[in-house]
Amino acid sequence: MAIKKIEPIVEVQPAEEKKTTELVLVTKKVKTPQLLRGFHDVLGEDQIYWDAIHRKVRELAYAYSFDRIELPILEPVELFVRSVGKQTDIVEKEMFQFQDQSGANVVMRPEATASTARAYIEHGMVDRPQPVKMFYDGPMFRYDRPQAGRYRQFHQFGFEAFGSDEAIIDAQLILIAERFFRELGIPVAVQVNSIGTTETRAEYKVELATYYRQHRNVICEDCKRRLTRNPMRVLDCKEDGCRAVSVNAPQIIDWLDEPSKEHFMRVLEYLDEVEVHYQLAPHLVRGLDYYTRTVFEIVPEVADDKSTADSSTADELGKAGISGGQSALGGGGRYDGLVELLGGRPTPACGFAVGIERTVSALKGRQIKPEGSKHRDVFLAQLGDVARRKGLALFEAFRAEGIPVAEAFGKSALKAQLELADKYQTKYTLILGQKEVLEGTIIVRDMESGVQETVDMNKVIGIIKKKLTE
Ligand code: AMP
Repeated sequence: MAIKKIEPIVEVQPAEEKKTTELVLVTKKVKTPQLLRGFHDVLGEDQIYWDAIHRKVRELAYAYSFDRIELPILEPVELFVRSVGKQTDIVEKEMFQFQDQSGANVVMRPEATASTARAYIEHGMVDRPQPVKMFYDGPMFRYDRPQAGRYRQFHQFGFEAFGSDEAIIDAQLILIAERFFRELGIPVAVQVNSIGTTETRAEYKVELATYYRQHRNVICEDCKRRLTRNPMRVLDCKEDGCRAVSVNAPQIIDWLDEPSKEHFMRVLEYLDEVEVHYQLAPHLVRGLDYYTRTVFEIVPEVADDKSTADSSTADELGKAGISGGQSALGGGGRYDGLVELLGGRPTPACGFAVGIERTVSALKGRQIKPEGSKHRDVFLAQLGDVARRKGLALFEAFRAEGIPVAEAFGKSALKAQLELADKYQTKYTLILGQKEVLEGTIIVRDMESGVQETVDMNKVIGIIKKKLTE
């Protein structure tokens, strides 16, 4: 094959300033396209955290019998306008929304509960034995103001249970969310509240609006607008002024209808039964319209004196600029009206979602390093061209036997290869040089003792297998 020399990209331009006919070579600078604001790459070194999270999610899903559902990223705009609510931040300003080639109004999903409800209706799951329990994970998109811990593309996993209004379902979902963090080693607090039904909220909203009107000069411009449309949104506002006023706002618990109150009590009793510690959060309402009755959030645990963050999780999130209402690692609640709202048969349901980036950040903040998949028992080092070629085949032979081997075929120096073997914390390094190839042998080096032996190349797989099982 003829190999052509590749010339650098150059542009020939007349040198205007010198006003001569001399030609000057100017190297054309290519600008690298950058990440979009609020978007991020997850690099190899972070994958141990992501893998550990996904492993835990699957383990819990299996233990509590939730089936995985893979949902599309694009959904019709209408799905979120109807479910999340027209007057929510998500629908008002955060949707990545566009018209596709056919003119359909589509949106890159900002969350996935509405999608699971759509799927529940679309696939007739109402006819299956209830509750139907599903879990999902994947990217979500919100055109929010990016900052540490808040991205425009972020990842969530979520558990949803459709078809039962029993309080035990709420409690078990809260338990799963809490166990997820606890079993990963992240101490969390569970905050719970009940926001009753749409009907019972009506009176409360009037009371709330009256209260906030008395503090009109302190609350932010957005919240002034919210007062007439949905004053409960003010409770959710992250602005300092609004948060200060909200401290003494009326509490929805005093307006709850009897069945909602009873339901809430039962949820708390079940939580007591399984020793899930919770804090009552009388102003927790969550930002989405579809919630009814139980709402909850999982936040990094805070010390008893309530002023200092006990865990480095909160520290880490704090350092990253995530504080107060923004430090939630996950949240959820009951959404009994959602399926009907989307055109399905009335179906009570409950679920939660957890932010994966914030969980990774919490793990790092506590210096929890999950066991990585980088570890290999065997490293194959080669010296010289012939050995490299033989090594390639030997690597395949090991792989066929199911023995993971690390290698560095791209490197020639033995020292550099042994350094890598150390990094992988290998137990044995196989060294293949020209001499060994000629003799049909290979060196086996015990990395802990430093002892080396030369063995028959044809027997090396069996020898290593035996050593690894000893
Ligand atoms: P939500 O769907 O708003 O209830 O959010 C559930 C969880 O997703 C939150 O507790 C966060 O951990 C995570 N989350 C929500 N929005 C973002 C975002 N913009 N960037 C990163 N994580 C987010």
